[in-house]
Amino acid sequence: MADPGTESEPKTDAAFRAEVREWLADNLSGDFAEIRGVGGPGSEHEAFEARRAWDRHLAAHGWTCIGWPREYGGRGLSLAQQVIFHEEYARADAPARVNHLGEELLGPTLIAFGTDAQKQRFLPKIRAVEELWCQGYSEPGAGSDLAAVSTKARLVSTGTTTRSGSTDKQAWAVDGQKVWTSLAHLADWCFVIARTEPGSQRHQGLSFLLVPMDQDGVDVRPIEQLTGTSEFNEVFFSDARTDADLVVGEPGQGWRVAMGLLGFERGVSTIGQQVGFARELAGVVELAKENGAFADPVIFDRLAAAQVGLEVMRANVLRTLAENLSDRTIDRGQDNIAKLVWAGWHKNLGALAMDVLGAAGLVAQDSPRHLDTWQRRYLFTRADTIYGGSDEIQRNILAERVLGLPREPKGASK
Ligand SMILES: Cc1cc2nc3c(=O)[nH]c(=O)nc-3n(C[C@H](O)[C@H](O)[C@H](O)COP(=O)(O)OP(=O)(O)OC[C@H]3O[C@@H](n4cnc5c(N)ncnc54)[C@H](O)[C@@H]3O)c2cc1C
Repeated sequence: MADPGTESEPKTDAAFRAEVREWLADNLSGDFAEIRGVGGPGSEHEAFEARRAWDRHLAAHGWTCIGWPREYGGRGLSLAQQVIFHEEYARADAPARVNHLGEELLGPTLIAFGTDAQKQRFLPKIRAVEELWCQGYSEPGAGSDLAAVSTKARLVSTGTTTRSGSTDKQAWAVDGQKVWTSLAHLADWCFVIARTEPGSQRHQGLSFLLVPMDQDGVDVRPIEQLTGTSEFNEVFFSDARTDADLVVGEPGQGWRVAMGLLGFERGVSTIGQQVGFARELAGVVELAKENGAFADPVIFDRLAAAQVGLEVMRANVLRTLAENLSDRTIDRGQDNIAKLVWAGWHKNLGALAMDVLGAAGLVAQDSPRHLDTWQRRYLFTRADTIYGGSDEIQRNILAERVLGLPREPKGASK
């Protein structure tokens, strides 16, 4: 098969689907066959190194960053073909990817807002899965109200050559704390929102900085989650340094960049996930058939309702896709609605799986922390309606931006 990155003629969707399916079938073999279905919500700790090797294998064959423009190492695929890729990926039971934050969030943000030097420095290593990223937005006093960020950064003189070899004699010195930072313990870099203009208020005076994790000034402390594992962390910055030119957008104008990134987080990057959801629901139905739980009319009803919800999400994805393809300026809060719908559906599915399992779902395996996939998934789905913007925040956005209702009063600035 030709290297996908070198093709000049676009393929039809059907031919593209066949190509993806064949490639995955051929390549999820040997050692990689063992990591089919591994990782994912509640199981991010599973086989991390093997999954990273798999991601690098994908990269070597042109299957990472497929939506990025070709000039930045992507394949410039249409939204429709990106969805096809995700569908086939889920159908093949391929392992959960390790660099979602770099590929789906930071990469598109750098393409939209970064300098040429930043693009050249970072995009190839994201594409090749050589550098992993984490997201330094939330703080103990700034979650939903992100504009309350209090982590600070200031330009200081270094008098030394910087990490990237530039002769810039200035660097950002970062002080503060982030929290709930997913995968910070594995990441090489963190994109950090910090206040760079002393005395500035809320959205003003913030900057979007790229900070290396491997330095004395960065302390990562894992937070033990309900699952007993630690997908996220506290991150403390104490005079942590990064090069002066590693600010995305203008210093003090980071809010625009930060919001641009959230658009990528709630948009295309979630579009393929409903196929994974379909497989999860099929698993719950199988469980119900095996243990007879479907005979309970309430369970029967909930399974049917879950199927209806799945079809609604699928129809919504296709509609959004069609709209995006014909007119990218339409904004009726589709990303916010999609987040609300999938988060609620998935959280309910986690609870449904537990009810299908019945008493067995309440019992751990051979030790209190040895949970099975359904138990882990149930616990992790409790977070679906929180991360990426909570349900309440999505509703606020819809009320204010789409319905035009008066803005809610904001708390006093800290
Ligand atoms: C699994 C997981 C992974 C995460 N990963 C990351 C990460 O990698 N990087 C990162 O920066 N952050 C991450 N987060 C943090 C996440 O973005 C925040 O948890 C989220 O923004 C909510 O902020 P908070 O936890 O501070 O809650 P708060 O903002 O304190 O909210 C508490 C409750 O009040 C409600 N609420 C708050 N304000 C309003 C309002 N104005 N109107 C109505 N209701 C309101 C909220 O909906 C919520 O129910 C992660 C969170 C989870 C659960």
